[in-house]
Amino acid sequence: MIGKIHKQMSHDSWLFSKMATPEYTPFVFLLLLFQSGVWGVPVCQTPQESPTCGYKSCHATKPGMLNVHLVPHTHDDVGWLKTVDQYFYGDRNDIQHAGVQYILDSVVDQLLKNPDRRFIYVETAFFYRWWKQQTDDMQNTVKQLVNEGRLEFVNGGWCMSDEATTHYSAVIDQMTMGLRFLNDTFGHCGRPRVAWHIDPFGHAREHASMFAQMGYDGFFFGRLDYQDRNRRMVAREQEMLWRASESLTPPMADLFTGILPNGYNPPEGFCWDQSCDDPPIRDDPDLEDYNVDDVVTRFLHIAHGQALVYKTNHIIMTMGSDFQYENANLWYKNLDKLIRYVNQMQSNGSEVNVLYSTPSCYLQELHRVNLTWPLKGDDFFPYADSAHDFWTGYFTSRPALKRYERISNSYLQTCKQLEVLGGPISRKGPFGAGDSETLKKAMAVAQHHDAVSGTEKQHVANDYARKLANGWAHCQVLVSNTLSSLSGSSAPRVYCEHLNISVCPLTETSKKFSVNVYNPLARPVSWPVRLPVNGTAYSISDAKGKAVDSQVVPVSQATAAVRRGRGYAVNELLFQVQAPPLGYSTYSVSLLQNGPPSPPSPLPRAPTAVQNKFLRVTFDRETGLLSSLSNLETQQTVKLSQNFYWYNASDGNNSESIQMSGAYIFRPNTSTPFIISKTAKIETLQNSVVQEVRQWFSPWVSQVVRLYTDSRALELEWTVGPVPIGDDLGKEVISRLDSSINSSGVFYTDSNGREVLQRRKDYRPTWNLRQSEPIAGNYYPINSRAYIKDDKDQLTVVTDRSQGGGSIQDGSLEIMLHRRLLYDDVRGVGEPLNETSDIYPEGLVVRGRHLLSLSPPAMAADTHRPLAQEVVLQPLITFTDGELHPSTRLEFSGLQAVLPPAVHLLTVSQWDQDTVLLRLEHQYQASESKEHSQPVTVNLQKLFSTLDMLGVSEMNLSANQWKDEMTRLDWKAESGEKGRHYKCPCQITNHTVTQTLGLYFVI
Ligand SMILES: [Zn+2]
Repeated sequence: MIGKIHKQMSHDSWLFSKMATPEYTPFVFLLLLFQSGVWGVPVCQTPQESPTCGYKSCHATKPGMLNVHLVPHTHDDVGWLKTVDQYFYGDRNDIQHAGVQYILDSVVDQLLKNPDRRFIYVETAFFYRWWKQQTDDMQNTVKQLVNEGRLEFVNGGWCMSDEATTHYSAVIDQMTMGLRFLNDTFGHCGRPRVAWHIDPFGHAREHASMFAQMGYDGFFFGRLDYQDRNRRMVAREQEMLWRASESLTPPMADLFTGILPNGYNPPEGFCWDQSCDDPPIRDDPDLEDYNVDDVVTRFLHIAHGQALVYKTNHIIMTMGSDFQYENANLWYKNLDKLIRYVNQMQSNGSEVNVLYSTPSCYLQELHRVNLTWPLKGDDFFPYADSAHDFWTGYFTSRPALKRYERISNSYLQTCKQLEVLGGPISRKGPFGAGDSETLKKAMAVAQHHDAVSGTEKQHVANDYARKLANGWAHCQVLVSNTLSSLSGSSAPRVYCEHLNISVCPLTETSKKFSVNVYNPLARPVSWPVRLPVNGTAYSISDAKGKAVDSQVVPVSQATAAVRRGRGYAVNELLFQVQAPPLGYSTYSVSLLQNGPPSPPSPLPRAPTAVQNKFLRVTFDRETGLLSSLSNLETQQTVKLSQNFYWYNASDGNNSESIQMSGAYIFRPNTSTPFIISKTAKIETLQNSVVQEVRQWFSPWVSQVVRLYTDSRALELEWTVGPVPIGDDLGKEVISRLDSSINSSGVFYTDSNGREVLQRRKDYRPTWNLRQSEPIAGNYYPINSRAYIKDDKDQLTVVTDRSQGGGSIQDGSLEIMLHRRLLYDDVRGVGEPLNETSDIYPEGLVVRGRHLLSLSPPAMAADTHRPLAQEVVLQPLITFTDGELHPSTRLEFSGLQAVLPPAVHLLTVSQWDQDTVLLRLEHQYQASESKEHSQPVTVNLQKLFSTLDMLGVSEMNLSANQWKDEMTRLDWKAESGEKGRHYKCPCQITNHTVTQTLGLYFVI
């Protein structure tokens, strides 16, 4: 059976039934599958004799009138000022009064009192916690409410993800998890029709593309640049059609998008929560302060005003806010009255009709008016809520958490793959009971817009990290079980999570150990390994027994300084490993020579250049800084220097600069950053595996410029911190590349790790920008890469986590690495971003990597796409001590064949006992690669080496609908949109249905 992938940058999900690995009697299993009807059970419950949920459950509107859709809602952050569990229970109300369990208790109770009432719920992480604690009776009651459309889920992901700092694969996972719970629990009526990102601080185009591919009919949000909003209000363009991909054929990535009128708050004077002070409706004329006339008049005034800035005779009002509805009676009692009294005015000639509604009911009315809508092609970054208030600091806030989240995604994908490849033994095996669920949930929570964004309180950030670590511990058992099963060796497996600072007790002390390298990519990888050791010479052999070239070099001073007693290796053992697709390879390491540590062998003077067969890098002898980069294959050279600087964060002491830099906001008080050092002290290491120039800029900034023998990328490993604050100045530290590339005010950044968008200095594609912050207003999120280019040269930087960056001068690209701030920026978090820890009481030290490549623009993607993949899904390295048993299987691949370079294996995950979720994506954007931006064909049947497929069903991206049942509302774009050329030669995926082995393959 052949599945064709026709779409550049498209991805599809498939669920396929599998036969287990051979030892599980496949034929019996197969028959069981077939006869028991497991195969026939849809994972997405198809509409049944369904009641009246969804669009059918909407209240009638009045055609000739202004219809005001009141949407009762609560915004429940999955961690922010309190941890997710504290929020659920209502613990630590001294920090913030908020208890989600009471909200759901109270709302259900109030919905039952009046069938007209409506409520939407958004964050499945909370709903799931609450649902588990309910009685059968209560669960049935809630199902009834959902079936009748009185309680409706919108968005429905585990959380409401951040859009600037998340990676698409983790967003898809967290959406899938939330939507699956809703589907499993409520079926058809639990499927959200509307995506709802009312709080994230700017909006990514890739998110809109994903929502479209997940089957959503529309999308609503609250935050956008104040200038953009003002223009859209005047032009009545607050609702639009977002064309969210340059690669997918419309309308695949088209998403109707609406901007809410008050962020997500109620109109002024109409907040009836226990957390608000607005007057209740006092409607007994016999009592004091009767105010119905006043309330109705104010409401009509607001409604008429709002109607002026929207296009139709339907308007929406969000009646709720953060953690509201804990005592829902207050809201509903007053909303009931508001509706009654405002609508009573119709008999006196009022043409305003108020109703309980939901975002999907509102959306349905917009669809019915059958208008054309303005097209939007770029994104909503950066977000500013005032002239000097750009929310571009959080692109970098908490850089250590951002890296930990990213590497946890890599762990999770590996864990899920090994759960499939290992079969049941992975979850219960020689090392005990393991699972991937714990890490799935921890990762899903970490996508929240106050989690990986870095905008939570310190104790909450610690909780996210603790949850990730706990999830990984559960996965380690699973991984050990599977690797033991696949290799036939039950030797205890050791995980070293501090290899980046050369800490690994096993390799530091063992005379003989083996290194297992698991590669989660669907193509082979070659990867440099760097292990902390105390010997001076080692012999290494690969899985075939062949000797592998290795080198021992001294641990750098910078590394020794950040270990803080967690390791004592004096040397690092370097060698290059190869690992097969979706599989592992094992290397054996033996100590040859113990003796004293090898003397540090830095060359006395810097060489003017280091090079391998692909790249040549030169350094300025006087300054020790980079001076040029050449691609030896394409024979191109650019001048290139790099250095570290810091912006002085505005601190509010200056009367003119009231807005301060904080967790959210970046506001330097001068546009010129301070240089940390004009020169770097350097030492050089050169051997057959790697060439390194170690640069030392100051006691808190150092870097290794590293060129591995087989690499097409130059690695800049930066180490920054503790950022000094003894001078009482908040600092925002950047790495800046300055090149001879003529970039003409333009640079490029990726969106959530996927498609790339063009950015132009002091410019926005959809309105005439009045730039008020020359630096912060030119910063954009960089999730995985950024580049500058001219006709000849493209310099691309691949990052290892989300960061913020900009191109302030032509030829220049700066990326913010670390922030240490002394003041809160008054956006709610209430703490300065000033991270310390037990190990680093004087401030966090952060280490990371930038990978640089230089190519002709037409070839650049061929390098940066696979490179970024290798960073996102990096090999998992595990160790076993001592000699391996001779029968140990040293190499394994879960694939029968390597996937074509354009195809990325995005997801392999156990769905239920007999079903696996598979996602393949075309990873090249239309036109970015001559060679790879082409349709490709994949043979799914011959994909896996240990699994036999019984059948395949194609799903939408979030795996909560069959692809062929996915119908979305269609929207018309205004004609005459300029400059929108979609050159993609793509077609809608065309699948072939074949029959093999007497079983149907349904694609
Ligand atoms: Zn929020």
